Amino acid sequence: MLTPEAIAFREEARRFVRDDVPRELVLAMDAEQVQYPREFLEKAAGAHLLGARFPVEYGGRGLNWVAEAAALEEVGVLGTALACLYSLPSIVGEAIVRFGTEEQKRRYLAPTLNGVLTTAEGLTEPRGGSDFFGGVTRAHRDGDEYVLDGQKRFIVGAEGADYFMVYARTNPDAPAHESMSAFLVDRGPGVKVEYVYGLMGTRGGGTGRVRFDKVRVPAANLLGREGGASEIFYRMMVPERMTSAAGALGMARAALEVAADYSTKRKAFGKKIKDFQAVSFKVADSLTQLDAARGIVYAAARAADEDRDPALVRRLVSEAKKFATDTAWAVVNNAMQVMGGIGYTNVFPVERLMRDTRLIMIWTGTNEIMDLIIQHEYYAERKAGLETRPRSVEADAREADKVEEKVYE
Ligand SMILES: Cc1cc2nc3c(=O)[nH]c(=O)nc-3n(C[C@H](O)[C@H](O)[C@H](O)COP(=O)(O)OP(=O)(O)OC[C@H]3O[C@@H](n4cnc5c(N)ncnc54)[C@H](O)[C@@H]3O)c2cc1C
Repeated sequence: MLTPEAIAFREEARRFVRDDVPRELVLAMDAEQVQYPREFLEKAAGAHLLGARFPVEYGGRGLNWVAEAAALEEVGVLGTALACLYSLPSIVGEAIVRFGTEEQKRRYLAPTLNGVLTTAEGLTEPRGGSDFFGGVTRAHRDGDEYVLDGQKRFIVGAEGADYFMVYARTNPDAPAHESMSAFLVDRGPGVKVEYVYGLMGTRGGGTGRVRFDKVRVPAANLLGREGGASEIFYRMMVPERMTSAAGALGMARAALEVAADYSTKRKAFGKKIKDFQAVSFKVADSLTQLDAARGIVYAAARAADEDRDPALVRRLVSEAKKFATDTAWAVVNNAMQVMGGIGYTNVFPVERLMRDTRLIMIWTGTNEIMDLIIQHEYYAERKAGLETRPRSVEADAREADKVEEKVYE
């Protein structure tokens, strides 16, 4: 499914992950000795690996989602914190590329892809993440500036990022979907990290709660139009969820490889454990699920690349996020079972991958929210009759004409 260009890009990412990311960094982040690995982003930018979908003139490579998904699988083997930091330029960059002014592209996007600036996104608020449009952070216009007040929580890069993409309510009286705007907010006066979370996994990414206290944001940093946050939000959900989905493949693959190799060496009852079907069938099942997940991720990537109907892209991307992250969790769990007790220790990285993987079913929209979107789009497709049905299968029942038996109410 990959073009030669995408394969070459994946190889570059694989080399970077193998040769340029020291194990000491991964371990120090997990031990919370590092709270924001800026040098990782600088190195990734130096290797020209950030925001590869974006135009060359801003530091991208003009590649597509399929290529980026292939690279993200490689970065995913490093775990959620590094994969997330790697993904943020792609997520925030989508909003800037699609909705930003030329000045915003030059001042924020290009330096982000070049590793000079680092970015974070502030969507989630203490009173609710799934209920995005219920957010209460506010901004009002004051001359050439907006004054921003509120707080965002669970922000990866709260500690360390140079600027935040933040959504705020600019017209509290308007219907929720028309009441918000998006801003690029520099770290500066009034921006304060109030709390850094102790996390089960995904450590070292500086995840915290950020307060914005009467922060003065130049009007030139409004993204898109005032009140136009919903169109940006829906657009950003493509990279938000594609990156989660593709990164999940790497985490699952890494755990499976460790466990499969272990099963070829570990003996019990005089046999290598891989010779017990209870073990090797877990490997087979995991591999099948992983390949299926990769398939759905690439299908969603291709739909996004071809700019297909936004509703279809939304459904496929949501399916990819849900399926790939559920699969990653199942595969990592199988890997731990295959390894027995030693899998539960920090002698092997499977326990870290398990702690990381638990998050991905929750963030970037929980998998329940993915279900909400998937069913919504599917019912809408059925109602609109978008799928041409070559045959009325409902009629293929012996008593299909017994309409008096087809009671619906
Ligand atoms: C480590 C970490 C990093 C994160 N990074 C970022 C970040 O960088 N930027 C950012 O903005 N956010 C970030 N998040 C936030 C994350 O996206 C949210 O936690 C997530 O969207 C869920 O929101 P919530 O925690 O408020 O849960 P809630 O919205 O309170 O949901 C609680 C439960 O209710 C369910 N639920 C809610 N509404 C519905 C519904 N309509 N139908 C069915 N079930 C429903 C949910 O599925 C969930 O099971 C991060 C979170 C964590 C833990």
